[in-house]
Amino acid sequence: MSVTLRDAQHLCWKNFRKINDVLDPERGKAWTPFVTVTDLLEEAGEVAAAVKGLEGHAPSDKPKTKETLATELSDLIYVTFVLAEHYGIELEEAFLQTVNDYMLKFIK
Ligand SMILES: [Mg+2]
Repeated sequence: MSVTLRDAQHLCWKNFRKINDVLDPERGKAWTPFVTVTDLLEEAGEVAAAVKGLEGHAPSDKPKTKETLATELSDLIYVTFVLAEHYGIELEEAFLQTVNDYMLKFIK
């Protein structure tokens, strides 16, 4: 399956809203941007733990694998898309600009 960044972002948002339509009434509170950004930081920490484990810097109760890292990176992207969508940001355009900016910064 091949999707654009824009399609992936919209898919994550649709999925997120569907989950929250079920969970918000059960929890009695909405999944706010504040909660979402704490999730983003949590996922970034899980990415760090996976890389640390893969590089042998941290003994772990569960061995870290490339599959672990792939899952954590995907979690991070998912939460990033949800946060972007909440604020009406199309990440595809910003992402392409970022790629271009890196090229301009490091390749003269
Ligand atoms: Mg995770």
